[in-house]
Amino acid sequence: MKVFKFGGASINTLERIKNTGDIIKTYEGEKILIIISAMGKTTNALEKVADAFFNARKDDALQLFEQVKASHLNLLKYLITVNWQQAENQLKDFFTEVEWLLYDKPVRSYDYYYDQIVCCGELLSTALVSIYLNDIGIKNTWVDVRDILRTDNNFRDAYVDWDYTAEKVKTHIEPLFTDTDLVITQGFIGATDENESTTLGREGSDFSAAIFANILDAESQTIWKDVEAVMNADPKEFPDAENLDVLSYREVVEMAYYGAQVIHPNTIKPLENKNIPLHVRCFLKPDLPGTVISNQPVHGLPPIIVLKKQQVLMSLSSKDFSFVEEKPLSQLYAMFDRIKIRPNLSQHGAIGLLCCLDDKSEKIEKLALAASEIFNVQLEKNLTLLTIRHYTEEKIKALTTGKHILLEQKTTETIQVLMR
Ligand code: ASP
Ligand code: MG
Repeated sequence: MKVFKFGGASINTLERIKNTGDIIKTYEGEKILIIISAMGKTTNALEKVADAFFNARKDDALQLFEQVKASHLNLLKYLITVNWQQAENQLKDFFTEVEWLLYDKPVRSYDYYYDQIVCCGELLSTALVSIYLNDIGIKNTWVDVRDILRTDNNFRDAYVDWDYTAEKVKTHIEPLFTDTDLVITQGFIGATDENESTTLGREGSDFSAAIFANILDAESQTIWKDVEAVMNADPKEFPDAENLDVLSYREVVEMAYYGAQVIHPNTIKPLENKNIPLHVRCFLKPDLPGTVISNQPVHGLPPIIVLKKQQVLMSLSSKDFSFVEEKPLSQLYAMFDRIKIRPNLSQHGAIGLLCCLDDKSEKIEKLALAASEIFNVQLEKNLTLLTIRHYTEEKIKALTTGKHILLEQKTTETIQVLMR
């Protein structure tokens, strides 16, 4: 059994959906669970619907939703010839689920409505792709993942109930493979025990795929992306970025932790725990090998660079010249936990503490206010956090010359520099 995950870019046009079908066809005879994201920028579009609805702009919400409907119906028209009526009915059922809600008034939390609305992107994309594949003779079974993947009700960042989900996979997914080689379902979404839809956080489909790979004891997981491989830097910022053929789980976890936008950070643990290799491959060039990520340590990696922009430096110092010891520190960490913000870098001295954080304005304001109860607080914005794994002195110099350095931290493997 293999697990494939196709991202939104692999299905955002007619040609790309056909291309995805061509890739799947080359695996004829193999058992594959296929996880698919919402098409192209659908999730962003649905976020706008949720915003409008929650801010009492019902007409805007309905109109924005019309655009999502139109783009899917339009694709359907050109994509599906035999089973178009079935496809149209299924899409319309999902449209109705959302519209029914949009005609109401918001009485619950924003995050709740966000999940009820945004989950529709994955339902629509998977239904379309599944029916298209059946249409062209690639037999598959479509599953509503909300019947399988159970979560708590922490909307927008729901926590997976592994035991319940594993049980459902055993009783409801595994048996499907006796009659079909391909099962298609949604990434990113799940449901609570009260059948409310939930989401696992943006870009969560990689993680969904890893959950299934783990439970199904898959031989491998493949993430099909629009890049040739995982690279050692963002090629938009660094034109000389190189492809990395092999990486260890450890390296990828570290890269994701420091903010590299490679793979959803939660993806590696379920795979590592069952020693399942992860392939990152290019759906535009399926002949390329891409990157293989496994438990094998990899030596001689080039410097791996992660740049995080829009950083804030929060400088905290004790109000009465007392030491910053366990008590104020634990109070501060309790604030991080409550406000759900995590420092990307922190350093403390005798009476002061420096924290570098993402500039999520609302959270930063809350944190600054709460921290000012125990510390003097100063903020500096518009900073960049540079992380280099496997650094060399030349690389550090090349990337920091001419910058004003505010904070620096170094281990034998990794250097982090906060700069202006
Ligand atoms: N469609 C969701 C997003 O755009 C989930 C995913 O693509 O992984 O964030
Ligand atoms: Mg995506």
